[in-house]
Amino acid sequence: MTGLVIVGHGTRSAAGVDQFAALVERVRRRSDVGDVEGGFIELSRPPLTDAVGALVRRGHRKLVALPLVLTGAGHGKGDIPAAMAREQERHPGLTYRYGRPLGPHPLLHTALEERIDAALAGADRAGTGLAGADRASTGLAGADRAGTWVALIGRGSTDPDANAEVAKVARLLWEGRGYAGVEPGFISLASPSVPAVLERLRRLGARRIVVAPYFLFAGVLPDRIVARSAEFAAAHPDIDVRVAEVIGDCDALADLVRERYAEALGGDIRMNCDTCAYRVLMPGFADKVGRPQRPHDHPDDPVGHHHHHGHDHDHHHDHGSVAVVGGGPGPDDLITVRGKALLDAADVVVVDRLAPQGLLAGLRPDVLVVDAAKVPRGPSMAQEAINAALVSHARAGRRVVRLKGGDPYVFGRGHEEVQACTAAGVPVTVVPGVSSAIAAPALAGVPVTHRGVAHDVTVVSGHLPPGHPDSLVDWAALARARGTVVLLMAVDTIAKIASVLIEHGRAPETPVLAVQDAGQADQRSVPARLDEIGAVAAREDIRPPAVFVLGPVVALPTTGPTA
Ligand code: SAH
Repeated sequence: MTGLVIVGHGTRSAAGVDQFAALVERVRRRSDVGDVEGGFIELSRPPLTDAVGALVRRGHRKLVALPLVLTGAGHGKGDIPAAMAREQERHPGLTYRYGRPLGPHPLLHTALEERIDAALAGADRAGTGLAGADRASTGLAGADRAGTWVALIGRGSTDPDANAEVAKVARLLWEGRGYAGVEPGFISLASPSVPAVLERLRRLGARRIVVAPYFLFAGVLPDRIVARSAEFAAAHPDIDVRVAEVIGDCDALADLVRERYAEALGGDIRMNCDTCAYRVLMPGFADKVGRPQRPHDHPDDPVGHHHHHGHDHDHHHDHGSVAVVGGGPGPDDLITVRGKALLDAADVVVVDRLAPQGLLAGLRPDVLVVDAAKVPRGPSMAQEAINAALVSHARAGRRVVRLKGGDPYVFGRGHEEVQACTAAGVPVTVVPGVSSAIAAPALAGVPVTHRGVAHDVTVVSGHLPPGHPDSLVDWAALARARGTVVLLMAVDTIAKIASVLIEHGRAPETPVLAVQDAGQADQRSVPARLDEIGAVAAREDIRPPAVFVLGPVVALPTTGPTA
């Protein structure tokens, strides 16, 4: 049976670790779940790597990894998959299916209801010493729900979707259960805070409030919920304030783990990604779109540098990163949505001469713009100096965008920069761009392929002329081919290239179009036959940046205004 690894974040609370371990044991006792281990990605033992290692030693090569989180936020979406990716590097051949977050789920809502009822019955957290009205006369039953308001307190996240989930659970908890009302609040990172939501309930006329932590296990944050509630209760002795227990290790939770396990095994993971900030641009969260994820470093993990967050969950990760972004051929609006979002969130932008300069005008005034052409360097050190600049800014914790013209991987040296970041341990991502190789002909009205006319297109650097000892281009093969050739960086070499293509068999009358400054206000295109393009380009003073597109597609009639 497929092994199950239950992945927790980790906590400084010994009680929380014990509850996690007890749940893992409870799941293990179920005969319908495979081999089970549990591990944490930071703070607590055992580390995830031990849990996965144990399953691998017992022969498992396929696992279900279940993030033991209530809502899909940074830990479930990024940190745990990143930690699992590291386990896959450690154990070649290891594959896993990833389970979805636990909530919202009726089993959890029922568990919350039971915790709230227990608090109403007077069995709220022992020793919390909440001040409140006539506590002695408690022993309230379900009939008292109508007079009870619930403050459902989630962890709080910088992920809007996760916060919205807590609001949804609050509503679901209210539906049909007869409480006076249920309001969501958060103990960290999001608002309303616990005091704010309690104050809201007071103004709504609440005389009795149960604060229900939407938490799986004990920890620093649930403790903080008790403390904030106690402060409010002390300031408002006329209101009966009680704090319910966390969900904790229980059969309902084990049932839910089993359900998520079965779901992952069956490939039926009904995750709603429509409002995920990592996928779509949400107002105020542009920096999350496509953001790379890195594993946390568990203190006991043999790999990775050990860093320790000096505080609990309201830590934010200020690790820097690099995004190598293709800016498109020049116009501001031919960058991708993802590239633009990363640019909007950047602290540093290292920009190429051919990158869309107009985009720089829209950057926040505090963004450092580095002109790559002017990076200080020794002779012929340009690329190394740029790589070093990317790495050093990222290491200083900044979000760096390397903004390039067109696509970063089309004659852009983009991969050299990616390799440099990877070698330096800096997280790096690539955002493809609209390459001038395709876009410049298109903007001039030429399709690089056309049904029945050209079924191949070859993009060629003309930087080195034919016959150059370092050239890797098979010009004779290009001459023999029938399709489209797009030449970049060929303004100085076009005459030589044209004559070599003719020498090896391309027809001298093959139509060619030179397209200069594609997408810019001063875009122009100049047509010629292949045997004349060298002379025409010189006479017409074609200057970089320009592409030459040649082949039968250039002769196609076009009605476009850009022709
Ligand atoms: N990575 C870029 C290409 C870099 S090489 C891309 O994918 O577009 C630089 C060459 O790109 C220039 O010499 C020119 O041939 C071409 N080029 C870039 N922008 C251009 C533009 N706006 N119009 C015409 N050619 C362009």
